[in-house]
Amino acid sequence: MKTSDLFKNKTVLSLEVFPPRRTAPINMIYDTLDGLKGLNPDFISVTYGAGGSEMNTATLEIASSIKNHYGIESVAHLPCINLTKSEVLELLDGFRQAGIENILALRGDINPDFIPKQDFRYASELVSFIKENGDFNVIGACYPEGHNESQSLAKDIRNLKAKVDAGTDQLITQLFFDNDFFYSFRERTRQAGIDVPIQAGIMPVVNKKQIERMVSLCGVKLPRKFVSMMSKYEHNPVAMRDAGIAYAVDQIVDLTAEGVDGIHLYTMNNPYIAQKIYAAVSSLLAA
Ligand code: FAD
Repeated sequence: MKTSDLFKNKTVLSLEVFPPRRTAPINMIYDTLDGLKGLNPDFISVTYGAGGSEMNTATLEIASSIKNHYGIESVAHLPCINLTKSEVLELLDGFRQAGIENILALRGDINPDFIPKQDFRYASELVSFIKENGDFNVIGACYPEGHNESQSLAKDIRNLKAKVDAGTDQLITQLFFDNDFFYSFRERTRQAGIDVPIQAGIMPVVNKKQIERMVSLCGVKLPRKFVSMMSKYEHNPVAMRDAGIAYAVDQIVDLTAEGVDGIHLYTMNNPYIAQKIYAAVSSLLAA
C-alpha cells in the first residue's frame, strides 16, 4: 500500500526505527519491533546511515521484515548524497522485490570525512529519479524551523515546493518542541502551494545528552518550559523519562486538536516510551 493514501480517512500514526550499529547483531531490532507492533502503527519507517561511502542493505532487510513478517506497511529511508545512480537502482530493485512501495527520499547530511558522490546534489533530484524508475510512493523531509543550511525559511520553502513538484507525495517534519513553529510552517507551505499531507515528527526526550546532540545537529529551538523541565530532572533518569513522555503527549494532544495530518514518532528504538505515549493518545488519533 502507498502510505499517502492513508491520510484520506484518518490521523496517521507512524513510527521510526534505526538499524542496530554495524557491530551489533541485526536481530536486536526484532525485539524493538516485537515491542512496537501492538501500537498498530500505519507504517514503520527505517532509517539509513548515510555516513559511509558504501551502500548498506540493513534498511532493506529490516523494512522487508516489517512488511513481510510483521504485516505492517514499511518505509525505507534513502539518503542519496553518498550513492551513485546505479547503487540507487540496485536498492530500488531490492525494495521492489521485497514489496516495499514507500521510500523516504533524502539528501543525507554532508559528512566532512567523505567526498559526496556527484550523481545527486539535492533530495529533489532523487525524487525525480525514483519516479522515473518505478511506481513508488515518495516521502520527503521538511523543516518547520528551516533546514540548518538554509539562509531563510522562505528559501527553504521554495526548495521544498520544488521537491514536491518533482513528485513527493507526502512530507514528514524534523522534530520540533514548539508547536507554533509547526503551525506557522504549515500555513506558509499551504500559501506556497504545497498541498501534500504533512506529518509532524515528534521525539520524546529522555535525557539531556540526547537533546544536546539534536540541538547541535538540527538547530531546533527549545521553549522555556522544555528547558526548565530538563534542568529540573536531568539528574533523575526516571523523572526525566516521564517528563519527556508527558511533554511529547502534550505536543500530540495539541497537534491532533489542530487537525494535524499525522504524527511520526521518533521511537529511538525504545518500545516502552512509544507504548506509554500511544496509551495516552490512541483515542485522540482515532477520533
Ligand atoms: P534537501 O531537500 O536536498 O535539502 C537540503 C538543503 O538544500 C536545504 O537547505 C534546502 O533548502 C537546500 N536545497 C534544496 N534544493 C535546492 C536547490 N535546488 N538549490 C539550492 N538549495 C537547495 N538522514 C540520513 O542520513 N538518514 C536517514 O535515514 C534520515 N532520515 C530522516 C528522516 C526525517 C523525517 C528527516 C526530517 C531527516 C532525516 N535525515 C536522515 C536527515 C536529512 O538527511 C538531513 O536533514 C539533510 O541535511 C537534508 O536532507 P533533505 O532530504 O531534507 O535535503
